[in-house]
Amino acid sequence: MTLQFKKVLAIGAHPDDIEYSSLGFLLMQQSGGSNISVFVSSLGSIGDDTSGRQRKLESDKSFKLNNFEAFYSENGVFDYVKTESEIRQLLLKNNYDCVLVHDPNDSHQEHRLIYEITSSAARRLSLSFIRYRSVSSNYNYRSNLYIGADRFITKKNETLKLHVSQKDKPYMQQKSIENFHTFYNVGDNKEKFYESFFIETLFN
Ligand SMILES: [Zn+2]
Repeated sequence: MTLQFKKVLAIGAHPDDIEYSSLGFLLMQQSGGSNISVFVSSLGSIGDDTSGRQRKLESDKSFKLNNFEAFYSENGVFDYVKTESEIRQLLLKNNYDCVLVHDPNDSHQEHRLIYEITSSAARRLSLSFIRYRSVSSNYNYRSNLYIGADRFITKKNETLKLHVSQKDKPYMQQKSIENFHTFYNVGDNKEKFYESFFIETLFN
């Protein structure tokens, strides 16, 4: 089965979440003719010293490199009602047929919150709803979609390096990135690297 959408909106709580988890999927969709947009809910985690304006500049470079249309939350502080309204308006205005977002089985409260908000924003719309795995996904996370990422990993590494303020984070180290994309139990392991997703709703 080949999944090909026309317009995809990927949503992330923080700058770099979308690229880290799903850049391969998005580039695959793009190469099949899909338009890719992204919505970033904040300029970093509340309480993280590296959060702030610099993260938007890094994010802009990253999205520009990949030809994604970028939207940022106007409130940026995870206000449920305001953020839900921003995402709902985007969905109503742009006719996306696929939304990609965090998974609720995640130890980061801001990731869980953005999943909840996006679920509300996407109610009663005929679009496919796919959750991505993140570095903080917990043991309840499960996958029903794997995307071979070997042909995207170089671009992904290049993209993640643009998030310069995050370069010392443990999950940004090369070994961690490789581990995140390694699944020894997937198919015949033709590819070295994979991205992992959970399809919640599929519309065709
Ligand atoms: Zn995050």
